[in-house]
Formats: sequence, structure tokens, C-alpha cells
Amino acid sequence: MNFQPTEMQQQIAQMIRDFGKTHIQPHVMEWDEAQTFPLPLFRHLGELGLMGVLVPGQYKGSGFGYPEYVTVISEIARFCGAIGLSVAAHNSLCTGHILQFGNEEQKQKYLPRLATAEWIGAWGLTEPNTGSDAMNMKCVAKQEGDEWVLNGTKCWITHGRSCDVAVVVARTGEVRDSHGMTAFVVEKGTPGFSGGKKENKLGMRASETAEMIFDNCRLPAANMLGQVGEGFIQSMKVLDGGRISIAALSLGIAKGAYDAALQYAQERHQFDQPIASFQGVSFKLADMATQIAAAELLTMQAADLKQRGQVATKQAAMAKYYASEVAVKVANDAVQIFGGYGYTKDFPVEKYYRDAKLCTIGEGTSEIQKIVIAREAMRG
Ligand SMILES: Cc1cc2nc3c(=O)[nH]c(=O)nc-3n(C[C@H](O)[C@H](O)[C@H](O)COP(=O)(O)OP(=O)(O)OC[C@H]3O[C@@H](n4cnc5c(N)ncnc54)[C@H](O)[C@@H]3O)c2cc1C
Repeated sequence: MNFQPTEMQQQIAQMIRDFGKTHIQPHVMEWDEAQTFPLPLFRHLGELGLMGVLVPGQYKGSGFGYPEYVTVISEIARFCGAIGLSVAAHNSLCTGHILQFGNEEQKQKYLPRLATAEWIGAWGLTEPNTGSDAMNMKCVAKQEGDEWVLNGTKCWITHGRSCDVAVVVARTGEVRDSHGMTAFVVEKGTPGFSGGKKENKLGMRASETAEMIFDNCRLPAANMLGQVGEGFIQSMKVLDGGRISIAALSLGIAKGAYDAALQYAQERHQFDQPIASFQGVSFKLADMATQIAAAELLTMQAADLKQRGQVATKQAAMAKYYASEVAVKVANDAVQIFGGYGYTKDFPVEKYYRDAKLCTIGEGTSEIQKIVIAREAMRG
């Protein structure tokens, strides 16, 4: 494995840095405070090819691989975790599910619109009473003639209100049967499909999180992804990629917080010297840099395996678990290095601190990652 970023990764990173300085950075706090989901920004990111990173060119995507995808998400998250989260959910969950499991007709219909951000995607697995325990889901799909009828509520869904298209996993068999769930594509405007409550969140506030409600929502059989009973297994495979996304998101947040703390520690003087000259501060910076480097190696390892078509379940879970915990720790240390100023909204670290926490929860909590890692380890 080559640890150096490729020329393409360097070009992508530079493009995002240039774009982010003008189009993201100046608005970060305004979007955060008002919980604005900045739709025009995502259309703009679509023009840059960042909303269909893994989608092949034949469907109007960028046709990049997982290593480049990690660069995209982490570089965006350095500016704003919430924008990084939305780009990640759009790319790897909704678009990723259709890319991996859609038939040719479905790919041709949805992927070009998603890859260009003409349409925004959502992915609904979680329900009010079933997060980690997804096999216990209550949202049902019943077959009636040539149609499927969906009833139930999905919650915590990224773009649950603003999406133009959603992939939804619903119960079609017995509770706790891994073959008892099926995935469907649902378009905005389908009668019986509506967005519900928008969550008022601690962090990631510019990324919309909302309920999706299905009330006798009738779907043609052509909207089913794959076969009846494959929805849960498909979702677990989608989450293998999704966890690399969240690892990359964590990495970007950690790097953003570290960069800010490193600069501040050299500028801020106390006792007539920069605070970076105190060992108590410089050792914190050393730990932060080391943990970020380790998280990056784990993330790139998972991305490399995924890129080579190998099973990456354990490595993706390790990367997600470690990188997200590092993001929380690094952001916490960054606030500490900023002292009182770090506790205010005049400096960026309080937002990294709030945003980072989501990374240990979304797409499987740290505890669930440990269950996955232990299970895979025992399999040998
Ligand atoms: C901002 C945001 C965006 C999200 N976006 C999406 C999305 O787009 N689509 C989607 O489907 N979902 C989404 N989610 C949902 C997210 O994936 C769930 O919140 C997550 O999986 C945890 O589920 P839960 O919140 O129900 O927690 P619970 O499952 O109720 O867990 C509560 C606590 O119990 C622990 N726990 C549970 N089971 C075990 C166990 N067996 N062993 C040890 N500990 C355990 C957990 O680790 C956690 O600490 C989003 C959530 C947030 C906050």
C-alpha cells in the first residue's frame, strides 16, 4: 500500500481548499446558527463532480475510487463537518445503494440526477424504536398486485425532508429475520410520502436531519432494489462503505480542529511566551498529530481494501470507530488549548467539538463498531 496521496488526490484536495475558502468558510457559522441546509451549495458541489464521486462517468459521475472519496469528504469536513456529512450521506448511502444494487434501468434513471446534484438523496434505515437494532424495524411494505404499499416512519434521516429521492428499507417478512427486509426507491411527490419533524441538533446543524413518513405510500414493483428479502444484507454492505465515509468525515474534523489549535498555540502568549512552549500544551499537540495520523492510516487501509473489491467489514468498522473517537478527543483538546476563547463562537473549535460527536453515533455507534470488530476477529 502506498501511503502518499496520488497526484489526483492532491489536485482534488487543492480544488476543495480553493472552493471551500470562498463558498463554505464564510457561511459556516451563519448556516450553523440558523440550521440552514444550503441547497445551492450542493448543486455547486454537483457541478464540481463531488456529489457522484464513486459513480462511473457513463452515469455522469466522477468515476473516482475510495481513496479519492476519502480525500473529498475529509477536505470538505475540514471546513464544515455538516457539509461533509451531507455530501457523505448523499454519495455513499443513497447513491451508493442504487449504484451497488440497482438494475440498469434504475441506475440510468437515478444516478445521473444524483451525481450532478439535480436531485438530493436520502437513505432510510433507522426508526424511532430501532437504531442499532435495525432488524427489529416496524416500517412495513405489503405487496398488493403489482404494487408495494409502505406504512411507517423513518427517523434521523439525513435530507429526510429535502430529498428528491430516498432509498428506504422496509419490513417484508418476519421480525429479526435478516431476509425479512426489502429496499425500495421512493421519489419526492409520491402520494403518501412526506417529510416529518426536523431535528434541532447539537452539531452538524447545516446537515438536515428529519423524519420520513409513509402513509399508504404505493410504489410500483419497478422501485424495488434487488430482490424481496435482500434489503438488510444490502444495507450492511452499503454501511461498509458508509463507515469509510464517517471515518473520512472524522478525519477532516480532527484535522480542522488540530490546524486551528496548532496555529493558536503558537500565537497566544501567556507568561511572556507562546503557550506552545509549555510542555502541557505541546504534548497535547503531539498526541493529536499522532492520533490523526493513525486514524488516517486505518481509513486509507479500509479505502484501499474496498477499492480492490475485498471485504472491508472489519477494517471499515475499525477506521470508523477509531477515527470518530479521535475526532472527539482532538476537538476536545483543541477547545482546551484555546482556553476561554475556545468556548465561544468567535473561534472555530467549539463547532468542531459539537460536530465531532455525531461521528461516534451515526452509521453505527462506537459500541456497535466494537461488536462488528469482535465478531469479525472471532471468525478468524
Ligand atoms: C445527525 C444524524 C444523522 C443520521 N442520518 C441517518 C440516515 O441518513 N439514515 C439512517 O438510516 N439513520 C441515520 N441516523 C441514525 C443513526 O444511524 C442512529 O442514530 C444510530 O445508528 C444509533 O441508533 P439510535 O440513535 O437508535 O441509538 P440506540 O441504538 O438506541 O443506542 C443507544 C445506546 O445504546 C448502545 N447500544 C445499543 N445496542 C447495543 C449493544 N448491542 N451493545 C452495546 N451497546 C449498545 C449504543 O451504542 C448507544 O450508546 C442519523 C443519526 C444522526 C444523529
